[in-house]
Amino acid sequence: MEQNQIVEILKHHNVSQIYHADTVITSLSFLKAGGLCSRQYLDRNSLPKTSQYTDCDDQKFNVYNDLFFDSVDIHGRIRKPNYYGPVLFVFDLQMLLQENLANRIFITKSNPCYWKPYLKCNDRYFTNLDELGKEFQKGDFKQMITCHQVGFANFKYLQKIILDRPPEKHIELFRQAYQALFQGLQEADLSVPLNIRKCEYCKCFNEYQNMGENNLMRLFATKGVF
Ligand SMILES: [Zn+2]
Repeated sequence: MEQNQIVEILKHHNVSQIYHADTVITSLSFLKAGGLCSRQYLDRNSLPKTSQYTDCDDQKFNVYNDLFFDSVDIHGRIRKPNYYGPVLFVFDLQMLLQENLANRIFITKSNPCYWKPYLKCNDRYFTNLDELGKEFQKGDFKQMITCHQVGFANFKYLQKIILDRPPEKHIELFRQAYQALFQGLQEADLSVPLNIRKCEYCKCFNEYQNMGENNLMRLFATKGVF
């Protein structure tokens, strides 16, 4: 499928931005690299990342060198923290039109962590425009927009970064995360806003409030091995 045709279908479904959520440690590595990186790219360039339970399957299913995006801000949509982390990178949809992404854009039909080895390509991804046009649903979390075998994409189309704000008792962890991201943006010479998420009627406050120290560190710490 041609990238401009995919983008047209996404626009038709009211997608104008694409989103990538991650932990603070991994996000700092993106800023250091100057762009979004695949898990493999981070490994090969010795950039710190938080391990994900999907890493092993990702390698098996050949998506370890892919970039992943959602068509909505999942935290905003489900009113609780995004599983992948409290830092949200928001990109203009136009980024998918970059020349180096030609023939690299694939939209999954299910999350690769549920893929079985016997699934064929067209069970994993949309393989024709007609089907994509009919079955794509904005906000369907399993339909992930991926750049396949693209280890790195620069921040030319990055519009903003949003950081979750945990409750007061974790304020020091939050403050350090905010500061590190702010500094990372400056060092990367990016003039995009770093916004603090504003939540209403959201379960994130309670979830962060009751979260164990390890989980919280995994999401918000600026260094260490998690
Ligand atoms: Zn929230």
